[in-house]
Amino acid sequence: MQQLKDRIKECDKLLIGIGEEWNKDSVPEILKAYEKLADLVKEKDYFIVTTVTDAEIFNSSLDSRRITAPCGNETWRQCSESCTKDIWEPGEIPDDICPHCQAPLTGNTIEAKNYIEEGYLHMWKKYTSWLSGTLNKNLMVLELGVGFETPTVIRWPFEKTVSINNKAVMYRIHDKFYQLSPEIKDKAVSIAMNSVDYIEET
Ligand SMILES: [Zn+2]
Repeated sequence: MQQLKDRIKECDKLLIGIGEEWNKDSVPEILKAYEKLADLVKEKDYFIVTTVTDAEIFNSSLDSRRITAPCGNETWRQCSESCTKDIWEPGEIPDDICPHCQAPLTGNTIEAKNYIEEGYLHMWKKYTSWLSGTLNKNLMVLELGVGFETPTVIRWPFEKTVSINNKAVMYRIHDKFYQLSPEIKDKAVSIAMNSVDYIEET
């Protein structure tokens, strides 16, 4: 725990991945964990990639200008038939019916039949530009509860980021999927524990 805090203190850039273990449905008091995390990283130049779509992270003190949620946001609405690229904020369309084609609205997430990606692309661009600035820097990668539901979003690209940066260090924390691939073994610490519990105990 102390070692993790020291590592965070020492790094220039902090990349955080948040995965399945952080779903509000499985952790009723998830906001507390986000606040712990916010406290841990508040002094740092960080960026967060989350695959969680419940948008609870945006109710925390974490800086929303440093968060990208490429799998979408359940509280935002889109047309279930994708007749338009419009995305509506909560409550904007009270009857939850598409004003263009009268189809029901649905959450703006990868669960939609045709996911309208415009909802996240702006922050995703900010993220890739931030990431390109980490190349020769002391980069700390903190991967929290990311399994194999959508490994192409965080897990595999993070491994690649760690393997190409000589100064990178990684913490992979997961109840079940804490294993390290051979490419990152020497640069990474694996912690076999639920990552929400781990952060709550720091
Ligand atoms: Zn429509």
